Amino acid sequence: MIIEQPPRLFRAFFPCTTWRIKKEKEKTVYLTFDDGPIPEVTEWVLDTLDRYNVKATFFCVGDNVRKHPDIFKKVLERGHNVGNHTYNHLRSWGTSAKRYCENVEKANQLIHSPLFRPPHGIIRPTTIFYLKKRYKIVMWDVVTRDYNKDLSPDDIFNKVKQYTRNGSIIVFHDSLKARKNIEGALQKSIEWLLNEGYSFKKIEY
Ligand SMILES: [Zn+2]
Repeated sequence: MIIEQPPRLFRAFFPCTTWRIKKEKEKTVYLTFDDGPIPEVTEWVLDTLDRYNVKATFFCVGDNVRKHPDIFKKVLERGHNVGNHTYNHLRSWGTSAKRYCENVEKANQLIHSPLFRPPHGIIRPTTIFYLKKRYKIVMWDVVTRDYNKDLSPDDIFNKVKQYTRNGSIIVFHDSLKARKNIEGALQKSIEWLLNEGYSFKKIEY
C-alpha cells in the first residue's frame, strides 16, 4: 500500500531525506513517535518502552513542549532522542518556505535537535532546500496509521508485521487521536519485533 510504505518513486520526490537506514548488518528497526509530548499518551509510551529496554526517537511539536516541559524532559532523561516536528504541526503546502522555516526555528528554541520530520508527510522541495542545511530530514519506511479511527489495534499490529524490514523507520503517534490504537498495538508490536530478532535503535543526531 502506498500510504503504509511509500514507493521508491514517491521517495525520489523528496531528495536529501532519510526513509530507511540500511547500513546495519544485524536486523534493526527505528521506532519513532510523532506529535507529543502530551501527558495522556507520552508517559504511557515511555513506561512501555522502558519495560522492554527499547530506545526510540520522538518528533515533538514545539507548542506541546512549551505546554509540557516536564514530559519533554522525561523523554530525554529516559534515554531517547528527540526531533523537531514544527512548532504548530504546520503543513508545508500552502506555507511559504520562509514562514515554515521560522516555525521550525521557533520549535528548535525548545527542542534543540538536528533531526526534523515534516508534519502531514509532505514537504515542499524549496523548504527542503533551506532546512537540509541545518537539519537531517527524517521521513519513514512504515506508517502504522494508528491515528486512523477506522482502524483497530489489531490492524495497526498487522501493518507492523506486514511492512517492517531491516532498517525500517516506523511511525507511531503519541497523540490523543492514536491513543486507543497505540495502547492496543505497541506492546504486541515490540514483542513481535523482538521475536523476529530485531534490535531497536534511536535515529542518530
Ligand atoms: Zn505529525
